[in-house]
Amino acid sequence: MNLFDVYPLWPIEPVKAYGCRIRDKEGVEYIDLYGGHAVISIGHCHPTYCKMLAEQLQKIGFYSNAVRNSLQKELALELGKLSGYEDYSLFLCNSGAEANENAIKLASFHTGKTKILALHKAFHGRTSGAIAATDNPVIRAPFNRTDNVTFIPMDDLETAETEMAKGEYAAILIEGIQGVAGIFEPKAEYLKGIRELCNRYQVVLIFDEVQSGYGRSGRFFAHQYSRVRGDIITVAKGMGNGFPIGGVLISPIFKAVHGMLGTTFGGNHLACTAALAVLRVIREESLMENAVTMGDYIIRCLKGNKAIKEIRGKGLMIGIELKEGYETLRNRLLFEKRIFTGGAGKNVIRLLPPLNVDKQTIDIFVEAFNQLTETKIK
Ligand code: PLP
Repeated sequence: MNLFDVYPLWPIEPVKAYGCRIRDKEGVEYIDLYGGHAVISIGHCHPTYCKMLAEQLQKIGFYSNAVRNSLQKELALELGKLSGYEDYSLFLCNSGAEANENAIKLASFHTGKTKILALHKAFHGRTSGAIAATDNPVIRAPFNRTDNVTFIPMDDLETAETEMAKGEYAAILIEGIQGVAGIFEPKAEYLKGIRELCNRYQVVLIFDEVQSGYGRSGRFFAHQYSRVRGDIITVAKGMGNGFPIGGVLISPIFKAVHGMLGTTFGGNHLACTAALAVLRVIREESLMENAVTMGDYIIRCLKGNKAIKEIRGKGLMIGIELKEGYETLRNRLLFEKRIFTGGAGKNVIRLLPPLNVDKQTIDIFVEAFNQLTETKIK
């Protein structure tokens, strides 16, 4: 059987990884400033993470959600403490799209409405509900083009109010920082205004923190820079440092009813252990603080580089928009300098490194970046 060929693949096969480094089959070492789409939050193969997972695997890896699993409670407690959402409840699932599906479902149960608002350029995942809220015509299959989603521009409160005043919407979905679009942050004033509108028109405010959450921005959630609270917050990616797990943080205004949400694998013992290890390392190693320091350092080091049109983002979620003529830079960083970075469109380099990346690693990247951008490299 062949693999269904839906992803372009780099001709590189990692066989070992540690911290911010990856080694391939040929023994070549790479710097990882991408973290497999923002997934590697505490660094590859962190010793605390490996030890906790190995120990748990020898006890029990999985049993269904029909029995008690105290690791889930422990995780909810720790996540509440570190995120500042202590009074919220947690529903566990397996991925970001699934978290968003459940969030939309909850909002719909709660309001009795079927329509949702989403922002232009949004990306919320590839299940049929999440993709309907994703403003990308290339990846939306025809059956996803539902009439249930209205896309509105970011930072435009007037349009948001015109829509919400119709009284048709269950929820508005907003990424803490738009990642796939190329790192775009909603303004704090916009989020404050959206919060007020949601209260006025009884629309559920869902923050998708799947990519921007888990300390990546320097706060636990990127939307917390605005001091606005969501009614529902969705998480995944960095939550398990590579172990598939997603979650939905749910305000006390929602009433849980048996059977309204469900999952087979969500919140299994191994997944909870991975998530507990991540929270422990983020806390013990002050990784949110490191994200701020290192993010500022990257931006300071790259300032003045003539190839850059704009640098955006917060903490270790950085978009470097390049001027015309540097379209091959990402490939050259990888193949000539052995540095993995992310991309968005043709001209944005996305940096999403592990949150414990150090200055020395950044210096290597900055030197490579400056060298390769000395001349246009189309
Ligand atoms: N939401 C955002 C903001 C994302 O960036 C992604 C994935 O890139 C998703 C949701 C979907 O997550 P998953 O691929 O785990 O389903």
